[in-house]
Amino acid sequence: LLELNLVPIHDNGEFGGVLLVLQDVSAIRRLERMRSEFVANVSHELKTPIAAVKGFAETLLGGAVKDEETARSFLQIIYDESDRLNRLIGDILELSKIESRRAPLMFSPVELEGFIAKTVTLMEAEAARKRILLKVDVEGGLYVEADEDRLRQIMMNLLSNGINYTPEGGLVSVSVKSRDEDHIVVTITDTGIGIPKKDLPRIFERFYRVDKARSRSSGGTGLGLSIVKHLVELHKGSISVDSTLGAGSTFTIELPVLQ
Ligand code: ADP
Repeated sequence: LLELNLVPIHDNGEFGGVLLVLQDVSAIRRLERMRSEFVANVSHELKTPIAAVKGFAETLLGGAVKDEETARSFLQIIYDESDRLNRLIGDILELSKIESRRAPLMFSPVELEGFIAKTVTLMEAEAARKRILLKVDVEGGLYVEADEDRLRQIMMNLLSNGINYTPEGGLVSVSVKSRDEDHIVVTITDTGIGIPKKDLPRIFERFYRVDKARSRSSGGTGLGLSIVKHLVELHKGSISVDSTLGAGSTFTIELPVLQ
């Protein structure tokens, strides 16, 4: 897309001619479109829980408050939806901080065996609630240069998805191995519902979900994977996914090794 601009030239206050400026604005327009799509998506995502909170509060005020059982279940919905709003706003702020580079990463050497053990412990309660087994297999003595809090966020988002999208009694495993002299490969594998092949290329997009209802009912915001991808890239790494519908998914992160 080309844009043509005419710029008058003045020489000592006198009109000296016209400069023709031809500019390729495709990239600028694309960015503008992405930004306005994002704002539209955010508004839509915020409206849904707000409408629920408002609707149930209205019904309570209209008289439902007198029936204790109904009141209790409506209040629970109001509470859950407020919780979702909170998480949504937290994720949106996080994403915008990462994208605008306002949150510089604090890099230091991280030893992966200890780090993964600690992180997996944080997820054990969530896994136990669904009787999901968390398995860890980490090669010793491997270091990466990382912002430890952000690396934890990457792992927790992927583990939490693994647990969320795996039925009761399943398995989520983490493995860390050195691939060659310069690269470490981290994989998070689950025995869950899997992702249809056609959706695979899009799941790192903001707000993209395979099944909106399922993501909502498990408390998802649809932003987790886009945050993960950004953070992995800020660590000079890459992330990919492979999945078989009904059998499970594997997320693979490749990171540069710290020599
Ligand atoms: P959400 O908050 O909805 O989980 P994410 O950005 O974390 O958002 O993931 C985007 C979508 O990718 C999810 O809604 C889900 O459809 C799919 N997904 C992510 N992780 C998995 C997984 N381990 N197994 C199956 N589907 C997954």
